[in-house]
Amino acid sequence: MIARRDILKLACACLSSAATAYPKAPVIRTVLKDVPPEALGGGATLFHEHLSLAPDFMPRWIALARGGRAAAPLAAPAAQPYFMQDAELMTEEMRAAAKDGVGCIVDQGHPDMGRDLEFLKRISRQSGLHIVAACGYYTQPFYPPEVAAWNEDRIAAELTRQVKTQPIGVIGEIGTWDVMTSDERKVFRAVAKVHRATNLAIVTHTNFGKGALEQLDVLESAGVKPARVAIGHVGGLPDDDGTAKAIARRGAFVGFDRQGGAGDSRQVKMVMSMLEAGFAANLLFSSDFSAGGAQLKHNGGAGYGKTLTVFVPKLREAGVDEKTLHGILVDNPRRLLAFVPKR
Ligand SMILES: [Zn+2]
Repeated sequence: MIARRDILKLACACLSSAATAYPKAPVIRTVLKDVPPEALGGGATLFHEHLSLAPDFMPRWIALARGGRAAAPLAAPAAQPYFMQDAELMTEEMRAAAKDGVGCIVDQGHPDMGRDLEFLKRISRQSGLHIVAACGYYTQPFYPPEVAAWNEDRIAAELTRQVKTQPIGVIGEIGTWDVMTSDERKVFRAVAKVHRATNLAIVTHTNFGKGALEQLDVLESAGVKPARVAIGHVGGLPDDDGTAKAIARRGAFVGFDRQGGAGDSRQVKMVMSMLEAGFAANLLFSSDFSAGGAQLKHNGGAGYGKTLTVFVPKLREAGVDEKTLHGILVDNPRRLLAFVPKR
């Protein structure tokens, strides 16, 4: 007969092994494994980039942004293979980004944008750079047909299935293309459910900042705490617009995520204004790398590290100190991504 004391010992052993399998401590879920946030080292985390898109994604995106109806795929870019399908080239780009000070890149694509999870794993394994993958549905013009057919719960169930079966570390980029459509509202509400079921953070896409507060309204009304949300592309708004501060005042992250290019001088003004207002803890930086291969290091461009090598020096010049920059580039994105996985 087993003594009562032994039963208690057994029970304790079971409990502690359960605790090991489902840690209470927050992790960052990379495509290769879950890591404690500090395992990312001292490098920056770029919270909104693209490493894997279908070759026709950007041509469709550009045609739509110009007011066209690019539901039908346009011709793929001439360069073959497309750089986001060239694992050796992208491995080199990841190594170069690491040398520039990048510790982790979050890919904000998912299947409706042509994101290939195996490709992300391969370039992470080969380069040694931490990569986080996302899940979701992008925006109305890019939704697969099932989004119109499914209700909120069905969409949430599909995304939750992806989170439970794949190494997904964030929900994003989920967005509104222009004025929020009823399907987009449905996806946002479904995403709130996925967040509540998984604890994963949410990153959004706005049309250059349009409708940012409405996105936050929908997520908050569906039970998401603003601290778990990053509103994307806010740097596309006019620099005297009050939206960025309004987002921060509500406790959400504000994405300045198209850095290292033509919009820098306006974004420097906006970031300085946010810092003066005391919102350093709400800022997230990234470059939304996607436009084309010309910006690759391989082609003489600044590469995936351009937030660090092109944009951040402009902030230093404007007087921003290293401690503040470290907070924005290292601490803020980790706080967004770190989560306690739910059973
Ligand atoms: Zn993006």
